Amino acid sequence: MDKYPLKKYPVVGACGLNCGLCPRYHTEGTSRCPGCCGTDFWQKHPSCGFITCCVKQRNLETCAQCADCGVCEKIGKLLDSAKNKDSFISYKPLTANFALIQKNGIEEFAQLEIKKQAFLRHLIDNYDEGRSKSFYCTSCQLIPLDKLKEAMADAETEITEDISIKEKTKIVRAAISSLADTLQIDLKLRR
Ligand code: SF4
Ligand code: SF4
Repeated sequence: MDKYPLKKYPVVGACGLNCGLCPRYHTEGTSRCPGCCGTDFWQKHPSCGFITCCVKQRNLETCAQCADCGVCEKIGKLLDSAKNKDSFISYKPLTANFALIQKNGIEEFAQLEIKKQAFLRHLIDNYDEGRSKSFYCTSCQLIPLDKLKEAMADAETEITEDISIKEKTKIVRAAISSLADTLQIDLKLRR
């Protein structure tokens, strides 16, 4: 039996991370993670205090739905560190994710995450020369989906079947980088 219960939306982390936009969610092979409390998650991921409290004990999809969220020290510390300039880049969207879930509800948030995840899959499947997956994951985490789709529609007019994957990747990455600059979004990876 699974150590963890299954969540309806593994693309949304209990702690608010965008699991569907994580490089490990899009990795083939043994290191692939099914997302937060997805099938066989417990075989891939160490134990997590947010899952224990949020999913196991309170039967929620994410801490953003919790009635005690505003006074919870654990989540308070996480959101504080997410605001820190030097925090991991995947934590940057946490504050906005919490606000969106609390405003629009988990269903609407999860449906948007599923759309972002599908768009990211399109980028990885068609425009990754082997070294661009992390760049696309970060881009989908930080840039609004509608803006990314607009930029990609323009970029795809320049892409023809006869050019190499390296050239295709270069065009797509240039389009996304230019969009990020225009929106003043820093895509630089922090470790
Ligand atoms: S590795 Fe962590 S962040 Fe990535 S999909 Fe798994 S649970 Fe989510
Ligand atoms: S008490 Fe804190 S850790 Fe537990 S579900 Fe609520 S916000 Fe999450």
